[in-house]
Amino acid sequence: MSAGVDLLVLGKSPAAPDAGGAQSGYLISHDGFTLLLDCGSGVCAQLRAQLDLEALDAVLVSHLHADHTLDLLPLSFTLANPFLGEEPRRPPLWAPPGARSVFATFAGALGMQDQIAQGFELREYDPAAELRLGPFTIRFAEVPHYIPAWAVDLVTGSGTRFTFGADCGPNDQLVALARDTDLLLLEATEGPGPHSGSAFRGHLTASEAGELAHRAGARRLLLTHYSDQWNPTELRSAAEATYGMDVELATAGIRYEV
Ligand SMILES: [Zn+2]
Ligand SMILES: [Zn+2]
Repeated sequence: MSAGVDLLVLGKSPAAPDAGGAQSGYLISHDGFTLLLDCGSGVCAQLRAQLDLEALDAVLVSHLHADHTLDLLPLSFTLANPFLGEEPRRPPLWAPPGARSVFATFAGALGMQDQIAQGFELREYDPAAELRLGPFTIRFAEVPHYIPAWAVDLVTGSGTRFTFGADCGPNDQLVALARDTDLLLLEATEGPGPHSGSAFRGHLTASEAGELAHRAGARRLLLTHYSDQWNPTELRSAAEATYGMDVELATAGIRYEV
């Protein structure tokens, strides 16, 4: 068994999906424990193609935007499906504070009032506290976005670190959270950059992602949440210019060993 962390990208699309792609969804595995991080549209079908769902141990959501949560409904149907066995397993779904009422309102309006509870054991995390999930110790940092959003840092017992920036504009909190991490997964929603305008920033350019990773001293930088309509060479070059090292672009279906 790998001593490190295995990251499988199920989907990396932003809110407007790539051709044939899924929105945010990452499968994080270590020491026999498998965590789904975010569950945007299209992720459930990709997850079924990659994993026996009986092996799914937990789900964690960075924020409640639709491109990070919409497939919780079809996934809850799938987990409650009798094909999986007599008794639904209902893995824990760790969601941001306030998620319970948001899910109830949203699912209820669609005629699926109790659906999330059928597939998951819903729990709201306390972003101020450490969360222990299987072999992972998880810390959170609130990052600037259009709704409350939390970056997450996972560390294993042997000290391997993986940090996910969620969706965010440029900020110092994530620099602190990701200090010296082994792999930093950062959004580059706004393309190569530079950004123009002075309005509130809820997303990063690739150039800003590279700068943030450089300031954090991250050992590796993987860009995600970028549209397939951006030029990938330009994205990579812009991030490498500020990061100062090679940068990788997250690709659906690809595994990254941390
Ligand atoms: Zn978002
Ligand atoms: Zn997003």
